Amino acid sequence: MFIERVFLRCVAVISGLSFCVPLMANAGANWQISNRVVIEHGVLSIDHSKNVKQITLAQAQGGFKADLGVGLFQNRQKVELSFNETNLPGKRLSMTTRIVTAPVIYVASELPKDSCAFKLVLDHEMKHQDYDLEVLRIMSDEVRQFSQDVFDTAAIERTGSLNQEQARNRFFQQFNYVYQALGQMRHPVIDSPESYRDLSGQCNGELGRLLAGKQNQANSTRPAAAKVAK
Ligand SMILES: [Zn+2]
Repeated sequence: MFIERVFLRCVAVISGLSFCVPLMANAGANWQISNRVVIEHGVLSIDHSKNVKQITLAQAQGGFKADLGVGLFQNRQKVELSFNETNLPGKRLSMTTRIVTAPVIYVASELPKDSCAFKLVLDHEMKHQDYDLEVLRIMSDEVRQFSQDVFDTAAIERTGSLNQEQARNRFFQQFNYVYQALGQMRHPVIDSPESYRDLSGQCNGELGRLLAGKQNQANSTRPAAAKVAK
């Protein structure tokens, strides 16, 4: 029975911080593995049609619980892994990873489009988008690197065949792990209590006034500073 080894690989990223990701690796040192990464960035769309209730719900579904959600950045992605060359006797794998993005910023419909609060929330969400673009840039290198380790070359050598479904599962598991780990490095900083306090203090407190009626609906006891999320 084949037992997968799990080990940690430390990744240094441009911020100077480093973190470790678990890789199920049995890297075939004598394999030639290449993975070309192609990113097709969608045009950012601004959606002003959802209200606070809907955005709060969407945030909760995305794992960001807030009392009143006034803005949200989402980047819907389609990621495809295709095998261009699978020369197993020659120990060569050549792949292409295609990432197609569709970024959307939601700003609550309660905030009039010409208001200071609208611009405030939009600017905040743009910070999330900017960082997401940075993460995607880093992902190109990360994908090329972890492709060296993530495929079960020992099993390929043993069976003489490539199980593409299993290979894709391993690939996407690692892709999602790294993407989320990179996101965790900055998105929580953008959403720090300090940055929320700063936001609620701007526009002469307009955001709080526009949402004043909403507070009771949400049955919230948290301070206004904590209400602007994601
Ligand atoms: Zn945020």
